[in-house]
Amino acid sequence: MSTGHGLSMGELLARGERSFSFEFFPPKDAAGEEQLWQAITELEPYGPTFVSVTYGAGGSTRDRTVAITARIARETSMLPVAHLTCVGHTTQELSAILDDLASAGVHHVMALRGDPPGGPGSPWTPTDGGLTYASELVALVHRRPDMRIGVAAFPEGHVDAVDLEQDARVLRAKYDAGAEFAVTDMVLRASDYVGLVERAERVGADLPIIPGIMPILNLRSMERMVEFSGRQLPDEVVARLAPHAEDPAGLREEGIAIATELCEALLDAGAPGLHFYTLNRSRATREIFANLRITV
Ligand code: FAD
Repeated sequence: MSTGHGLSMGELLARGERSFSFEFFPPKDAAGEEQLWQAITELEPYGPTFVSVTYGAGGSTRDRTVAITARIARETSMLPVAHLTCVGHTTQELSAILDDLASAGVHHVMALRGDPPGGPGSPWTPTDGGLTYASELVALVHRRPDMRIGVAAFPEGHVDAVDLEQDARVLRAKYDAGAEFAVTDMVLRASDYVGLVERAERVGADLPIIPGIMPILNLRSMERMVEFSGRQLPDEVVARLAPHAEDPAGLREEGIAIATELCEALLDAGAPGLHFYTLNRSRATREIFANLRITV
C-alpha cells in the first residue's frame, strides 16, 4: 500500500513531493512481452513513484494486467498500479479481480469506467449486473481497506461530458467515493491542465491531479489518437512538426522538444508530478528526463 518512500501516494503528494510515473500496456505476444520488460528494466533506475498497467478494451487483458502487475510487485522495487474497468464485468467479477490483485500483492488500482466497446464517443451501455460509472467502481474498491485508488481526469473534459463543469463534478464524485489521486489523459497544452485543476478546486475535488504526457513521435498516429477523445492537436504544435513530415528523425527530435517544454510548463504551473505514457518503450521518456535534468 505504501510507495517506495513508505508513504501512500496521497500522503507523498500531500507532503509536496513530486510524483513521476510510467504507464505500460499488456502486450499481445512474446516479442511484445520482451519489449515491455526491457522498458520496465530500463526505467526502474529512475525510481518512479509508481508504474501502471492498463486494462484492455472489453476486459480483454484481465489475466495479463493482473499477471504483469503481480510480477512488478514480486520482482522489482516499483509500486504497481493495476487499471481496472467496468466494461464487460459484473460487480462479482470485479470483486474477484480485486481479490486476485490483492493476493498478488497489488494494492493500487486505477478505477475506470472504460470506453464503450464501439470505441470512445460511441453509446455506453453498462453490463447487466455491472457498474455504470467509474465512481461506482471507486466505491466498490474503497470498501476494501487494502486498496488505494486513482482515477482518470480530462484536461479538456471527457468526450461525453455535458460541459466542463459537469466534468469537474464527476471528478468530485470519484473523490467523494474514495479516490486518492487522479491522472489525466494526455495533456496537449499546459493551460488546459491549469483549467482542469482550477475547476476541480472550485467543486471541491481535493485530490492531486497528475498530468499525462505522451510525446509526439508520429504525427499521423497522434492526430488519430487525439481525435478519439474529441480533441485536436494545437495549431502551434502542428506548425512545429509539419516541416518534419518527411523526416522521422527530425520529427521525433521536435516531438521530444515539445514534450519537454510542456513538462517544464506543467511543473512550473505547480503540477504534483508527471505521468508518462510509455507505449512500452523507454527511450522517449529517458530523453525527456535527461532534458528536464531529472537524475536517476
Ligand atoms: P466516468 O468517470 O464514469 O465518466 C464517463 C462518462 O460518464 C463521462 O462523460 C462523465 O461525464 C459521465 N458521468 C460520470 N458519472 C456520471 C453521473 N453520475 N451522471 C451522469 N454522467 C456521468 N480505458 C481502458 O479501457 N483501459 C484503461 O486501462 C484505461 N486507462 C486510462 C487511464 C487514464 C489516466 C485515462 C485518462 C483514461 C483511461 N482509459 C482507459 C480510458 C477511460 O476508460 C475512458 O476515457 C472512459 O470513457 C471514461 O472513463 P472514466 O473512468 O473517466 O469514466
